Amino acid sequence: MKYIFGPISSRRFGMSLGIDLSPEKKSCNFDCIYCELEKAKKVDIIENPSKVEDVINDVLAGIEKYNFDVITITANGEPTLYPYLDELIDEINKIKKDKKSLILSNSSNIDKPEIQNALKKLDIVKLSLDSVNPKTFKKIDRPLENIKIENIIKGIKEFSKIYEGELIIEILVVKGINDKIEEFKALNEVLKEINPTRVDISTIDRPPAYDVLPVEYERLFELSQEIKNQHIFIASRKNLANKKERFTKEELAKTLSKRPFSESDVENILDDESKKVFYEMLENDMLKEKVVANTKFFTTKGFIFE
Ligand code: SF4
Repeated sequence: MKYIFGPISSRRFGMSLGIDLSPEKKSCNFDCIYCELEKAKKVDIIENPSKVEDVINDVLAGIEKYNFDVITITANGEPTLYPYLDELIDEINKIKKDKKSLILSNSSNIDKPEIQNALKKLDIVKLSLDSVNPKTFKKIDRPLENIKIENIIKGIKEFSKIYEGELIIEILVVKGINDKIEEFKALNEVLKEINPTRVDISTIDRPPAYDVLPVEYERLFELSQEIKNQHIFIASRKNLANKKERFTKEELAKTLSKRPFSESDVENILDDESKKVFYEMLENDMLKEKVVANTKFFTTKGFIFE
């Protein structure tokens, strides 16, 4: 089964069976400073692409053999560089039954109508948006020369208007590059218009290709507070928090009315006393829960989940 991997358990999406559309080598039009794959020449198409039929046969075998929630399209690089993506998505939709379909894309092609039309047939679309500032974008994602952040932003906004599934925007934070409050204020302005289902904020957690550093969990939380009125999931594999916060019931109610907490926020942000208060509130029906793209969020009763 050359084209599938896993299933792997992920806190962001549940159990996921991965499809790799470029199993031989990295195929990407970015050269992100935080990439975990080996350095490779940037390309704008997957060379010698596999046949849709071969990929689908592997996926069918995976469905037979394993238990999982999501079929995740990836490419050892960027999956929208696969030339038969539209046809592949149609075939996945025919066989996926109760599984959800998901793509992890770097957003580079989201301004292209044919990519928008293909991706809108998926249940979940994850698009990266590390920075909306052209200079920072170039510094962190190091794209092919013709790829402009202005077009990506325009493309994500257009896509968010036609897409009815769950749209997730991912921001990966690198120390000293996109970890400034101003970066997040600018991101917030753009996110207001996109209005995604969820915003995932993460940092480096495996050794990257270049010599760059992660930020602390506390910094991710501070930056996340600049993103207003969104479901935010701080995706940190390690619990980097040394200092956990003490919240009274009133403080928790106020915070949760503005910023829903994911299950891992509860684990990573609240100290033991505050966790007790949190679970009491949950038991006494003061909080409500909502699952957003396979991640559970909690907020106060007055908060309107869109
Ligand atoms: S988009 Fe993904 S695969 Fe491509 S360089 Fe960036 S991190 Fe690596």
